[in-house]
Amino acid sequence: MTATTTTPSMTFELNDEQRALRDTIREFAESEIAPHAGEWDEQHVFPTDTIRQLGELGAMGIAFPEEYGGLGAGAVAQAVVVEELARIDSSVAVTVGANVSLGGEPLLLFGTEEQKQRWLVPLARGEHLGAFASTEPGVGSDVQAATTTARPEGDGWVVNGTKAFITNAGNDLSAFVIITAKTPPADGGSALSTVIVPIGTPGYEPQKPYRKLGWHASDTRELVFHDCRIGGDAVLGPLGKGARVFLTTLDGGRVGIAAMSVGLAQGALEQAMAYAKERVAFGAPIAKLQAIQHKLADLRTQIEAARLLTYRAAALKEAGRPFTEEAAIAKLFASEVAVRAAEENVQIHGGFGYIEESAVPRFYRDAKILTIGEGTSEILKLVIARRMGLAD
Ligand SMILES: Cc1cc2nc3c(=O)[nH]c(=O)nc-3n(C[C@H](O)[C@H](O)[C@H](O)COP(=O)(O)OP(=O)(O)OC[C@H]3O[C@@H](n4cnc5c(N)ncnc54)[C@H](O)[C@@H]3O)c2cc1C
Repeated sequence: MTATTTTPSMTFELNDEQRALRDTIREFAESEIAPHAGEWDEQHVFPTDTIRQLGELGAMGIAFPEEYGGLGAGAVAQAVVVEELARIDSSVAVTVGANVSLGGEPLLLFGTEEQKQRWLVPLARGEHLGAFASTEPGVGSDVQAATTTARPEGDGWVVNGTKAFITNAGNDLSAFVIITAKTPPADGGSALSTVIVPIGTPGYEPQKPYRKLGWHASDTRELVFHDCRIGGDAVLGPLGKGARVFLTTLDGGRVGIAAMSVGLAQGALEQAMAYAKERVAFGAPIAKLQAIQHKLADLRTQIEAARLLTYRAAALKEAGRPFTEEAAIAKLFASEVAVRAAEENVQIHGGFGYIEESAVPRFYRDAKILTIGEGTSEILKLVIARRMGLAD
């Protein structure tokens, strides 16, 4: 049988707008981020001005509708932008990725018009950052077990509790944090809700940034809420349905982490290839050795698969179709590819890979969190097994 058309039934290419955004961010990352990334990492500096510039370039609003300050370019373009940033600097990538998917996305999906105007529009325009706090010192994967409380008082709420490992909630650009908290339902007991806490509210006490294994230039803190009074309009989404708000938010966040993983892996592969071509051993560049070629070819293959899984999940999200399982598959696979790529990059660099004078060890340290944040690999397998009808 001969084909009657040359149009492929599936396309695997970015469109013109997505390519243009990718090129803009790639150029910015290479010229404005790459020269400083090592220093920010070494000194644990949050690059406020660079994040602000990325906001001015439109990086925070790629996928948000134009009516809410965004570009309306869709979730695939958003993934591509985060990928490009992570190819150079994962700390910057997570600052943008978490701001968009954890700060902005729940407002778009669950916010009232007033909440969107107050918090989402400036976020999409890059004027301020938002955060989402679910994790607590004693509670991570088991989201429903949160112990932070929001009790009604007067016409508002009073929040008490502690959140752990929260991104973007204490730097100069931070404006609000959405938190999960137990609220009393009508029938007694307690239910999980999500509420918005403006940064600077009395009783909101961000702690000093953690010293982390990687992501040194991102802002991660413990947050303490001590009789923190917020307004009656602070509840995001239906009261008592905070788990749904959070889990829906996480689906999008997982596409972001998958994109970050693809970018980090791509950056590591490029570093490894460049070094393999220049490093001579036994009279020839090590790139001529089949052992090295196989490592690089394996990485190229795995990264391509991770990229396609990530773009597929993003494309489903963009089309308004279910993508929970696809996001979990993409994040699980891509994050493990990133860890492998970062490790092989060190291996190919030999002893130089272990010395803090290039980006190689930074990429190695930055990779590990990708298999932990926004759903550990174990939790993602649980999500996938559930979709397969295997787990409760
Ligand atoms: C740098 C950084 C930034 C972060 N940013 C944020 C943020 O912005 N907002 C936020 O809310 N959180 C954030 N987190 C927290 C992160 O999402 C959690 O660390 C992650 O969800 C895991 O939770 P946990 O650390 O409590 O581990 P736990 O849930 O205690 O898990 C510990 C181990 O047990 C395994 N495990 C747990 N339950 C199961 C199960 N049912 N089946 C199989 N294995 C299981 C896990 O896979 C893991 O290996 C951040 C963390 C870091 C390090």
